[in-house]
Amino acid sequence: MTEPLSLEDIDVALVEGAADTRWWVDRKCLPLKKSDSRRYVAGYADYDPFVHQEAEDRLGDRVFFRHCSEESFASVLEHLKRAGTQLRTATTDAALKLVVENSEGEVLQDIDAIGGLDDAPVVKLLNTLIVTSLAREVSDIHIETYEAGIEVKYRIHGQLYPATDPLEASIGPRLVSRIKVISDLNISERRVPQDGRFKLVYQGRKIDFRVSIIPAAYGENAVIRVLDNRKSLQSLDRHGLEDIGLEGESLRMIRKAVHAPYGMILVSGPTGSGKSTTLHAAISEINSGHDKIVTIEDPVEYQIPGVMQIPVNEDKGLTFSVGLRSLLRHDPDKILVGEIRDQETARIALQLALTGHLVMSTVHANDARDVLFRLENIGLDRNALFTAVKCIVSQRLIRLLCEHCKVREAGEAAEQAEYIAAGCAQCADTGYSGRTIICEVIEVTDELRAQLSGSPNSREVLAASISPDNNLRASAVRLLRAGLTSRSEIDRVTLS
Ligand SMILES: [Zn+2]
Repeated sequence: MTEPLSLEDIDVALVEGAADTRWWVDRKCLPLKKSDSRRYVAGYADYDPFVHQEAEDRLGDRVFFRHCSEESFASVLEHLKRAGTQLRTATTDAALKLVVENSEGEVLQDIDAIGGLDDAPVVKLLNTLIVTSLAREVSDIHIETYEAGIEVKYRIHGQLYPATDPLEASIGPRLVSRIKVISDLNISERRVPQDGRFKLVYQGRKIDFRVSIIPAAYGENAVIRVLDNRKSLQSLDRHGLEDIGLEGESLRMIRKAVHAPYGMILVSGPTGSGKSTTLHAAISEINSGHDKIVTIEDPVEYQIPGVMQIPVNEDKGLTFSVGLRSLLRHDPDKILVGEIRDQETARIALQLALTGHLVMSTVHANDARDVLFRLENIGLDRNALFTAVKCIVSQRLIRLLCEHCKVREAGEAAEQAEYIAAGCAQCADTGYSGRTIICEVIEVTDELRAQLSGSPNSREVLAASISPDNNLRASAVRLLRAGLTSRSEIDRVTLS
């Protein structure tokens, strides 16, 4: 008997992976959800005992065949595709192309063809992780090896979420090997950390990935960082300093320094606090075409029209300091140095700031006060430093509540209302959607310089220069009061 097939009938978990889907579609049938503990499979072709046997082998269960119309089969497939879910991955494996560099430049290769298909399930697993990460705004994929098994997690807007159920321990080394294959790393080396990168073309856009592999107690752990140029470019279009969340007094001080003809602007914060976002927003504000703006970055995360951007390439000897020295020959006015982490880079950057250039950079330090001490510690002269530096920003990224599901806390008076995170389909059950920057700024004025040179305790002087209305906590509390974020989120970000 022929019955129409509907989307609700399909056991989508069984057609989740690309290869799974292809397997079923090739056989003109799809697995249905169990009913009365019986497993049905619906197909539109004539009954074929071989396909029946294959389906039973694949599902490890007794299977009952149901006939369905070809039209309803096609419409269900179409629905699955349009829902953007499972079946889309059927085409994505094939759609992932690895960019391979050879002597003639870049060539595209089908990712499945790299390193052979000896371990097809693991190849498929990694492809699926990558494609999903691009669909879900994942910034990093973490592969963690424990005694009991493997955990794969996605970092989305700063928080980790499980990407899959825990996997059995044997998958770990195979998955890490596969990552090494596509990143061109040494597969047989399992005892020392390795860093690599790979580049893919997916749906017409080129995406860079950075790989870090570290041996831990129960095997190697890997982190794949997703650097999605397209997303960055889109978001940069509307990213002036105001658009990334800066406001009030902080915005005024940063803007003043950014528009000054020379001097140094330093942005600090932990990894993933949006430091380069701030600097790029600053650059897009001053990118009028009248000044020569040059950047040296590791890597170039956002492409900015009209700005000469140099990617650091340590393997080939192009370090921050080497790049900085050579870009001087291009007569720049404003220079962005991705990060100051060594003495040589710090010295050149300081020299440039003291000789009529505007230099912006980031320093890995927890707060604005620590920045100057960090630079002093790597050997810069403190008076020269205090002369050059115009402003020091310390910042964090804070998650914003999803507007579709945030819940007002009971019992709060109207003017004190606070919201908490819930979770819905719009925010992938995280309760949050999007992030913004909170910051505190030290404006290094002549008055502050005088105080610093006259005081034995410059740390206290710097601390006192940040008004309590404008420190990190205060800017987080403003977001809480506006109902844009939750108390647990501001505590997580500002009290740790
Ligand atoms: Zn939501």
